Amino acid sequence: MSFDTIIKEIYEEIKQIDNIGKIASYIPELLKVDSNSFGVYFSSNKGDNLGVGDYQDKFSIQSIAKVLSLSLAYSIKGELIWERLGVEPSGTSYNSLTQLETDRGIPRNPFINAGAIVITDILISNLPEYRKSFLDFVQALSGKKTINYSEKIAASEKEVGYRNIALCNFIKSFGNIKNNPEDVLDFYFDICSLEMNCEELSTSFSFLANQGINPYNNTQILTKSQSKRINALMQTCGFYDESGEFAFKVGLPGKSGVGGGIVAIHPGEYVISVWSPKLNKKGNSFKGIRFLEKFTTESRFSIF
Ligand code: GLU
Repeated sequence: MSFDTIIKEIYEEIKQIDNIGKIASYIPELLKVDSNSFGVYFSSNKGDNLGVGDYQDKFSIQSIAKVLSLSLAYSIKGELIWERLGVEPSGTSYNSLTQLETDRGIPRNPFINAGAIVITDILISNLPEYRKSFLDFVQALSGKKTINYSEKIAASEKEVGYRNIALCNFIKSFGNIKNNPEDVLDFYFDICSLEMNCEELSTSFSFLANQGINPYNNTQILTKSQSKRINALMQTCGFYDESGEFAFKVGLPGKSGVGGGIVAIHPGEYVISVWSPKLNKKGNSFKGIRFLEKFTTESRFSIF
């Protein structure tokens, strides 16, 4: 069976199932989304592309953006970034404070909030116009000038961002935040507020399926080794404390966000993005995970 047929069939099947997930409500603005939205976009290195359902509707990519901010920081500072954060799965929730105490302010990995906040601090220290530079970077990856931050979502998250404010100040107390915590948090909320559709998400992540090279404009974003390492981190840390289960059931590196998006990568082969806003108990898209599990099972095309 072709990818097209497999994707369309699984889409129809998963669309029908009862969605027992819940939309993330801790960021009030996220609740405004249509909870039945469901989109998929597949894009292979050979040039096969397929979009199904609501793949052209924009959504808040939230933590998926942490891969992009990490990529930009990694391209600027190289291996030096690992002096400021680790590469181990955390085994705790994405916004845990307790681990930071024992780890003396060095976050376990770049995909928990603490780690992404440190990456944000690195970007501020290295880019005079950091807000614009990050957006330019993302727009160049996707080739879409229309991609932007959502001021509404960033403001909505800031209003209730007590936990992230605590994390940032706590890390600062250990000396691992160099800039003003308020500036770091404002930029962190902006990064999380990026909006994309499934097609733009797949395009933006295609450099990670192509050994660090953006195939659309032939630009080297990361070295081959850096690209491998980011894929490894997505495999081990991309799904909060459901990362092991995602590797077990889906078998691809990937990253999820509380907006209900998931991007998954088969290095050397393809990128697939799925969006469905209702989340399971671990904070990952309920239908997104179900879809991807079926997709790699029926296509028999995962990295393992
Ligand atoms: N902006 C969200 C937060 O910091 C991101 C959470 C997520 O998508 O995991 O809480």
